[in-house]
Amino acid sequence: MKKEKGLLIVLSGPAGVGKGTVCNALRQEETEIQYSVSATTRSPRAGEVDGVNYFFKSREEFEKMIEQDELLEWAEYVGNYYGTPIDYVRETMNNGQDIILEIEVQGALKVRDKFPDGVFIFLMPPSLAELRSRIVGRGTETEDVINQRMTVAKEEIDMMKKYDYVVENDEVHLAVERIKSIVTAEHCRRERLIEKYKELVEVD
Ligand code: 5GP
Repeated sequence: MKKEKGLLIVLSGPAGVGKGTVCNALRQEETEIQYSVSATTRSPRAGEVDGVNYFFKSREEFEKMIEQDELLEWAEYVGNYYGTPIDYVRETMNNGQDIILEIEVQGALKVRDKFPDGVFIFLMPPSLAELRSRIVGRGTETEDVINQRMTVAKEEIDMMKKYDYVVENDEVHLAVERIKSIVTAEHCRRERLIEKYKELVEVD
């Protein structure tokens, strides 16, 4: 029987909504989902490890990756490059495993063009005030960067219209449960299963 391809799941949403936190919480759970590690030109934050949180690159190295078509998508975000290495994504899906990309919205829209079958999940902040306090609360950014991030965030929230699912990040464990339910439901979609059951079901 032909092996089912893994799902490409894109978790996106405005800056500071907690995509990283939700993704890390999902990672702690016993799921079969694999995680894509992005490349970036921003400097590592305290505790971040090269190859685990990101592949940390110089601008030159990153631009070479773009030239050599090694990225599924990339975006320039608040002065730095961020991008998804394509090989790992392809291999994982071809092995029948699901993979999740935690990326900002410009990149997510580019993935949609290349993988229309992907599952696009928008993580929604409970409110703008909450979003600002989360960005400030992280304590790693200057006032200037915080304001830039809030401006970008408001534009990003408008992108919600382009997603398949909207998950409110009111509480991390609830957001994680919602995402797991979406993944389960997506595996049960008729379009994804028609190939598997083609000997039993007449396809017209
Ligand atoms: P941070 O600097 O806080 O780690 O990430 C900044 C933003 O970049 C976040 O919204 C994060 O989701 C996004 N990001 C991380 N990796 C990628 C990637 O590979 N591609 C794109 N387009 N965005 C990414």
